[in-house]
Amino acid sequence: MTDTNWPDRLMGLETRVETLEREVLVLNRLIEGSQIINSTLQLKRVLENLMQVATDLTDTEASAILLLDKKTGELYFEAATGTKSAEASRVRVPMNSIGGTVVSEGRPLLIPDVHQDPRWAQNVDRQTQFQTRSILAVPLTLRGDVIGAVEVLNKRHDALFTDDDVNALAILAGQSAIAIENARLFEQRDYLSDIAHELRAPLTAISGYSQMLLEEPSDDEMLREFIQIIYDEARRMGELVNNFLDLARMESGRTELIKSDTNVNDIVEQVVAMSRPAAQQRDIAIHVQMAPDLPVIQADNNRLKQVVINLVNNAIKYNREGGQITVSAQVDDGRLHVAVRDTGVGILPEDLARLGEKFFRVRGASEETLGSGLGLAIAKQIVEFHGGQFNVESTYGEGSTFGFWIPLA
Ligand code: ADP
Repeated sequence: MTDTNWPDRLMGLETRVETLEREVLVLNRLIEGSQIINSTLQLKRVLENLMQVATDLTDTEASAILLLDKKTGELYFEAATGTKSAEASRVRVPMNSIGGTVVSEGRPLLIPDVHQDPRWAQNVDRQTQFQTRSILAVPLTLRGDVIGAVEVLNKRHDALFTDDDVNALAILAGQSAIAIENARLFEQRDYLSDIAHELRAPLTAISGYSQMLLEEPSDDEMLREFIQIIYDEARRMGELVNNFLDLARMESGRTELIKSDTNVNDIVEQVVAMSRPAAQQRDIAIHVQMAPDLPVIQADNNRLKQVVINLVNNAIKYNREGGQITVSAQVDDGRLHVAVRDTGVGILPEDLARLGEKFFRVRGASEETLGSGLGLAIAKQIVEFHGGQFNVESTYGEGSTFGFWIPLA
């Protein structure tokens, strides 16, 4: 009995092996595709890569991506292959179309013959001069929200779409939604940088002219006071803009360190000399404790100085009248360790966890002092750029220690 059956069973095994082999192949292409899609932060490139991978994966002639406009809630063709894509892009897609249905229902849709389906938007074909025969469309879903859809058009050799196509495209769409969102966020950040950049020229003019007015002799006390406020605020805003741009540049990897022989003794000496007048105004003493024979390190001198300036400035700003500051440096486990300790207001544990976040300022204590909430974020970035580590310890009401380590080699 079993003897006569074995060729059948062998055949069954063969098809299973074939299925498995096919699945592994698809998985490999999915992984490769996902890597390609995630290799850039430029939205246009992300979409182009996604369309390329989608057509390869499903063996189709073309692909299109539809995205919801977050503000208006309208659906647009954002990109399309296999045709003059510029023409297809930014064409509005009605919600009762095939793509619209996929987006509103959040489920894949397979249309073997578009001419038989009333939801098919013929005008897009007219505009793109592409002849659609069949469509497979899947939603682009991000954390449960549908943000758009991916369509592949015309299976090659007039074959039919399979369940494998639906599954593979759905997985690809899932992985791509994150890449699309990241690229959108990144573009937004670049846009903010552009605005910040544009603000610099008018700010320079405002502070320049108000400074000139301040230098003019005048008996009008109130007028002088108003001009002083304009000048101070323009300066403050200029500083904020510069800090913002600085951080944006570092975060996007557009900043390069200019490393040279750097002597931390010199840096601390210069920063402390610069800061003494502000400290003396509040009767704050600054002590310096440098270990003897500190090695010269390879670092970006100006950037490192910026870190120490930010920490010492904060130690003055968030200190009490008559408080103490100690700046120290030593070699610790093959690394240079610099610490700025203060006897200031200290930081509560829940605020400590958020320190270094952009624009984060502790409520209460910081409100009386001027600041942007960017200084620590910048300091942390610079230290990390040097391959180092940043650390804060604090006891609320007693004081804080901000420290960093930079590798010697
Ligand atoms: P800024 O001083 O411009 O507000 P920072 O990024 O330098 O921005 O600091 C962020 C916040 O961290 C400050 O607003 C302050 O609340 C807190 N902080 C920083 N340094 C100290 C310090 N030495 N002691 C207590 N709080 C501090």
